[in-house]
Amino acid sequence: MPPQRTAKRDVSDKVAPESSNKRRRVDRDATDPLHRPHHFAAEAEENGVVLRKYYPPEMSNARAQAYNDNEIPRPIEKLNAALEATAKTREGIKVRDAVMHWFKADLRVADNRALWEASQKAQAAGVPLICIYIVSPEDFEAHSTAPVRVDFVARTLHELKRDLAALEIPLYIETVEKRNDIPERIVDFMEEWDASHLFANIEYEVDELRREVKMVKLCAERGIAPELFHDTCVVPPGALQTGAGKQYVVYSPWFRSWVAHVHQNPELLVPFDPPAPNPSAAREKLEALFDCEVPDVPEPNRLPEEDAERLHAMWPAGEQAAKDRLEQFCDEKIARYGKRRDFPAEAATSSISAYLAAGTLSARTAVRTARDRNKTKKLDAGVEGITTWISEVAWRDFYKHILAHWPYVCMYKPFRPDYADIEWSYNSAHFQAWCDGRTGFPIVDAAMRQMRSIGWMHNRCRMIVASFLCKDLLLDWRMGERFFMEHLIDGDFASNNGGWGFSSSVGVDPQPYFRIFNPTLQSEKFDPDGEYIRRWVPELAAVEGKAIHDPYYRGAADQAKQAGYPPPVVHHKESRDRALKMYKEGLGRDGP
Ligand code: FAD
Repeated sequence: MPPQRTAKRDVSDKVAPESSNKRRRVDRDATDPLHRPHHFAAEAEENGVVLRKYYPPEMSNARAQAYNDNEIPRPIEKLNAALEATAKTREGIKVRDAVMHWFKADLRVADNRALWEASQKAQAAGVPLICIYIVSPEDFEAHSTAPVRVDFVARTLHELKRDLAALEIPLYIETVEKRNDIPERIVDFMEEWDASHLFANIEYEVDELRREVKMVKLCAERGIAPELFHDTCVVPPGALQTGAGKQYVVYSPWFRSWVAHVHQNPELLVPFDPPAPNPSAAREKLEALFDCEVPDVPEPNRLPEEDAERLHAMWPAGEQAAKDRLEQFCDEKIARYGKRRDFPAEAATSSISAYLAAGTLSARTAVRTARDRNKTKKLDAGVEGITTWISEVAWRDFYKHILAHWPYVCMYKPFRPDYADIEWSYNSAHFQAWCDGRTGFPIVDAAMRQMRSIGWMHNRCRMIVASFLCKDLLLDWRMGERFFMEHLIDGDFASNNGGWGFSSSVGVDPQPYFRIFNPTLQSEKFDPDGEYIRRWVPELAAVEGKAIHDPYYRGAADQAKQAGYPPPVVHHKESRDRALKMYKEGLGRDGP
């Protein structure tokens, strides 16, 4: 990530080295948040928040602000510029022996835009379509990808390879150890097979966009035409603007605009056909590609054997499994989704997030399938459960739009640069208690244990544990964000970062002074009978009545103690007061 500079202000990524570990106070005289000393970045780094092996020190507030002020081109803008600059060259490239699709987070045959476009191109020229997937161990490490997610992707690749082979299309899979080598390797591979056109769907994370830019330039130099498409969102990032021509930062008006846009552009929900079969002669010619094996999962990302069978049964891989799950949810549960979705003891949500994250299912198909169960084609009318669910799927689009326009959220920065000087704690005992599900707050502990056991956590609980980490333990939100990525089967940068931004009040629409969850009240409200807690915290299974929500203060202290359940690590009311103080000091003001 080379530092870029503007004439106006220093926007270097570098942070001045700090000589001492000690906390320092924010300089109260420096009222301009951009010029406040950047004290806490060093402390975050010392506590391992930034993955230094892959990323330079935390970027400066000024550089984040420079993105906001349109002084630095965003990675998505650089990609658009690279595509524009190479448009003529690309158009002039004739189809040679094959056309290629590069699978990334779009591991499906049906309703895959770039794959369909690639197939159209291959068909028109009468050449075969070949496909590639690159396993990148460094990306797994840099992105903290959970073993359960890597395993899910690996199983999905087996299914995808089989589905494509049924269409006489080979899927070649290769491990590339150094992630910087990926563009070069892809181009070399295309040359080996004399493939002229590279089709892919765009990913919006910064590393991926930068790789895409490199790819576009390299392809142009080597006589290959890259063809990139927006596919992962229903509405592509950048398509929606406020009346003032700005990107939305608040979900509700954004969602109204999203709905109107889809209504005006109904083709956005029309599925893309699967690719046409290759000519049968292709099999012989491409035999080596058909014969390739799906590589083993890299050692550090491997799922422990004792977990594999259970998790494989819970999360069957492949497009058919995704489709079945979606259909079943729409048949049996969606109508009641609006009323029941917040109760973690019930399986009232779709649990399709893992499939959306791996791209086994498209967001387009998810929304269309739900809409087609409704009495109306409108996305915001008719059955309440359906409209609520569609609005939840839209959150996924929303956070990807945020990521594309505010790329520094990918660089360990809060959405608002003025929220960067909050003095977080790095208390390792507290963090460990949170990770282990031993905070003494039963709903928090149940949720953390659910995630560690099955790689998934209910949305209500994600909000509760994230709020607890930041506002009760006052820990740096980025520690929680990373831990989630390391454990979730549906780990998705944009949604995870958005969720953590929401809960820690450093994201869009932050509301730090109003959004402080009381974990015990949340527990009483959303797990009223304690069913979810008893399921995941077996030590408390025998605790009766309301004591389940707070055993040490509701008359079940002895029982909890004997069962080995810990007392609360903090007192919520005191933590709340400390959190408010922390935000006020960090922001240098009393209100948002
Ligand atoms: P359903 O309730 O059935 O919703 C359907 C789909 O809509 C989901 O699969 C998901 O793709 C999308 N969706 C629903 N709620 C949200 C939301 N708040 N933000 C974005 N998309 C949403 N979701 C991820 O996919 N990956 C993550 O890494 C992730 N991390 C999160 C971290 C935090 C702190 C929070 C608060 C939320 C996070 N979410 C994440 C969002 C949400 O919790 C999950 O998408 C949801 O729980 C998945 O379960 P489901 O498929 O049954 O959802």
